Amino acid sequence: MTDYELIRSKRRSLELRVLEDGRVQVRAPQQTPLRMVQAFVASRSQWIAAQQERQAQRPRQRWHDGAAFVLRGKTLSLDVSEGATRVFVSGGYLTVRVSDSDQESSVKTAVQNWLRKQARAAFEDSIERQFDWFAAEGFSRPVLRVKSMRTRWGSLSARGYINLNLALLHYPPKALDYVVMHELCHLIHMNHGPGFHALMDARMPDWRQRKNLLDQPCYQP
Ligand SMILES: [Zn+2]
Repeated sequence: MTDYELIRSKRRSLELRVLEDGRVQVRAPQQTPLRMVQAFVASRSQWIAAQQERQAQRPRQRWHDGAAFVLRGKTLSLDVSEGATRVFVSGGYLTVRVSDSDQESSVKTAVQNWLRKQARAAFEDSIERQFDWFAAEGFSRPVLRVKSMRTRWGSLSARGYINLNLALLHYPPKALDYVVMHELCHLIHMNHGPGFHALMDARMPDWRQRKNLLDQPCYQP
């Protein structure tokens, strides 16, 4: 029998989730009898096992000394030791000083805080380098928002925001520039029609190769 956590909710049907760590959650309407929930889980046991297998095989970021960390397409090694909190790149290392260096969660928090600042700087730089042509066309520069998104690399809102995924910082700068250019082209074409692609071809002739870089598996922190 599969272990699972039962969450009673206002929903009208049963829902099954396999979390990243392999745990199983079932959401069920208040009135559903427990034996129905159990039968439901039992009937999906093969699917659950397959999902757990898939989750176990995903590359997962580790945060101990010597673990690999991919930054802007380059693989660095974490150099973790005890000290006042500080994170910096030096040679092939991402050096992390934290007070409790044996706690992977502390290392993770320190690196993620650092990463957000790095992302802002790198993303602003990419927009800066690519915006001139759009400025000349009379567009005003969208305001950057750095986000952690599960399913999108970026988006452009009608209210003047360009949203970029923090995870782009793991990919080569060429890939980041592609996403930024893609979103900037949405200033002119809101859809992905022929006009949009013609503009992409004109502004960034090699955008397809750059886009392919985003298909590589990435180490999600
Ligand atoms: Zn788009």
